[in-house]
Amino acid sequence: MTDRSRLHMAIQKSGRLAEQSRDLLKSAGLKIQAHKGQLNARATNFPLDLMLVRDDDIPTFVADGVCELGIVGLNVLEEYALGQPQVGVEVIARLGFGRCALKLAAPAGQAFALADLEGSRIATSYPRLTRRFLDEQGIAAEVVTMRGAVELAPRLGIANYVCDLVSTGQTLEANGLEPVLTVLDSEAVLVRTAKTIDPDRAAQLDQLTTRIDGVIATAESKYIVLNAPESALPDISRILPGAEAPTVVPLVGRQGHVAVQAVCQESVFWETLEQLKKAGASAILVMPIEKMML
Ligand code: ATP
Ligand code: ZN
Repeated sequence: MTDRSRLHMAIQKSGRLAEQSRDLLKSAGLKIQAHKGQLNARATNFPLDLMLVRDDDIPTFVADGVCELGIVGLNVLEEYALGQPQVGVEVIARLGFGRCALKLAAPAGQAFALADLEGSRIATSYPRLTRRFLDEQGIAAEVVTMRGAVELAPRLGIANYVCDLVSTGQTLEANGLEPVLTVLDSEAVLVRTAKTIDPDRAAQLDQLTTRIDGVIATAESKYIVLNAPESALPDISRILPGAEAPTVVPLVGRQGHVAVQAVCQESVFWETLEQLKKAGASAILVMPIEKMML
């Protein structure tokens, strides 16, 4: 029996999203007790139970309200949603891992134009997303649904093209295929049920999602401190990536010079530092942020 006094989250048991889903929860401060081979795990310091399942089942668990929360690839979620009259799952946050794209691929080295798809056969494990794409483009083609090994279809003569998930493109290349069109850009997303959640559970859910938002924000964020002549402030504020209202402090004994402190919510690259220096900044420090609550 599920314990209704606790929140439930469905995550992938094993596979490409499994480890990073758990890591995210750990970064949000949860201690997770898992037993090998079990379908459940529980947080010992937060009222959260995990259900460890196949990624394909996650949208159903969340839509039915069996789990209030889930972590799943946008590709799996959208494919599921296209088959439902009413979508019972809402995306709360994009998580920045499990990045991949659903791409249409053609035999390598063959000239390709969109019109070539007309009347062709396309093999995919994502028939609804593929069909939606074709409909949007006004193309009539046959969609051949395969559970796996989609990339073999052209060689086996089952299809002319494939529509498959790609991250590095190595699998396609190894099978003599090359991506020609992007159907969907995907990454892991945090989802919640559209069903009403009782107030106690809703408060726990808010607490957890606030922490997860903090973890996502912290991952890219850096704290920057630098010195600069006051006259350079407009240029420097423009260069600081994703920083709102930097703090400016006078420097004792250095007329016209200030110290600038800012939280940058986007990646800070070496190029950024070089630009800051060019704009007049000196003694530039970039520090990681351990925790953040927005
Ligand atoms: P399950 O046993 O849970 O059904 P699976 O074999 O269907 O697992 P995985 O291969 O583990 O799924 O992929 C899970 C998710 O990881 C995908 O739905 C997708 O969102 C993401 N992903 C990231 N990169 C890739 C990639 N190169 N190929 C496939 N999926 C990827
Ligand atoms: Zn799956």
